[in-house]
Amino acid sequence: MKIRKTRSICPTCLKEIPADIINHNDKIYIEKKCKNHGKFKAIHYFDNPLVYESMHNIIKDSETGNPDGMVIDITLNCNMGCPFCFAKTDRRTMDEPSIDTILSKIKGFKGSSIYLCGGEPTTREDLEEIISKIKEKGKNIVLFTNGLKLADKEYLKRLRERGLDLVILSFSSFDRHQSRKIYGKDIITDKLSAIKNITEMNIPLYLMAIVKKKTIEKQINEMIDFLKRNKTSVRVLNFQVLWYPDGKGTENEVTTHKILQYLTSNYGLTVDDFIQSTIFSHRFFEILRKTTGYGGRRSPRCEIRCYTWINNGEIIPISKIINISELNKKLTKINNQMSRQKRGKLWILMKNFPVIFLLTEFIKNQKLRLFIIGKIPFLFFDMINNRALAFSQTRGLLSIMLGNYHTIENVDLDFIKTCTLYASDNDMHEESFCMREIKRTCKEVK
Ligand SMILES: [Zn+2]
Repeated sequence: MKIRKTRSICPTCLKEIPADIINHNDKIYIEKKCKNHGKFKAIHYFDNPLVYESMHNIIKDSETGNPDGMVIDITLNCNMGCPFCFAKTDRRTMDEPSIDTILSKIKGFKGSSIYLCGGEPTTREDLEEIISKIKEKGKNIVLFTNGLKLADKEYLKRLRERGLDLVILSFSSFDRHQSRKIYGKDIITDKLSAIKNITEMNIPLYLMAIVKKKTIEKQINEMIDFLKRNKTSVRVLNFQVLWYPDGKGTENEVTTHKILQYLTSNYGLTVDDFIQSTIFSHRFFEILRKTTGYGGRRSPRCEIRCYTWINNGEIIPISKIINISELNKKLTKINNQMSRQKRGKLWILMKNFPVIFLLTEFIKNQKLRLFIIGKIPFLFFDMINNRALAFSQTRGLLSIMLGNYHTIENVDLDFIKTCTLYASDNDMHEESFCMREIKRTCKEVK
């Protein structure tokens, strides 16, 4: 059954072509046809029909705006060489951009955050200087890293002092045996030390875990168990499917649906918890942005998340803390009204603020009372300190996220146009991070 039309890219000539979204046996596919290279069909990145539809509808076309983050590759060197790395840095060459070049890429960029990427950015000797120069431009600094060098506390401290705001750490496994087999050494110990140091310095941390088909249960269980047992500054746990930008190999990997299925059947979360959390995140930030002019990163259609609260070793989804679908209805109404009216946003918010609903929930729900008393002071503290990154950074809140990248085979431009993470190319041309990787990888293979 055909659901709707979209646009995609021809895997052969890389030109933009028309595509259809199809529901076949309760799975979502993307089908496309190039005049010169024929028909292609691939499983959609959100293969679960309910999730696909919700994510498609979550953002109106009119709400797609400027990207909030920019990825800059500052080196191709790496101190690990993972066999599954999408960057394939061993096959590429690049002149490391000088600090001036990096600054020229940022010039005029309106988004709030710069993502330093690579290779492994900590292999650059002048990383501290890069961070402080970008910080001077008023941007948040996010570091994509394997974390090995952050096991050195003094080094991390210097990065923090220069202005590091957020660490995105790739951390997929606790398997020391496998680590020795792949890297010839135990990297788990270093990564755990890095997490400990980052937590002690109260730097917000995102963990990116690449989940493999064979070990999905073990990986998810160990990750969640680790976060339940340890107090960390982890705010986002992002389960990702191994990414092949050129699409080759994708069929042997798990899908977002499989990960979702495992999480919902084993951790008391529901698919609706994910959908409602994502709607909440989107509406909350839209309203904040419309009233104040700033308000956190925009979420694209490609990211689904579940807000949870880890309390006494238990994972509590947001729906157990508050009637989130009801709250979302109220927020959607406010947001729609703000979109229609050009002026008086604050007045709309005040007039429609769901005071009675919130009070009733507060009285009715003990979990909400405990949550508010325990967490709200932190929320305000974090908002004041770090406006742009605030909400998802709040202590004790854990977003379990399924963030996945498109491949040449399933790229859905209806999703890409909501992308918030852009990459700046050498020729200063900007495009969505995954589109750049797709094009780059496909051109290199040819
Ligand atoms: Zn073609």
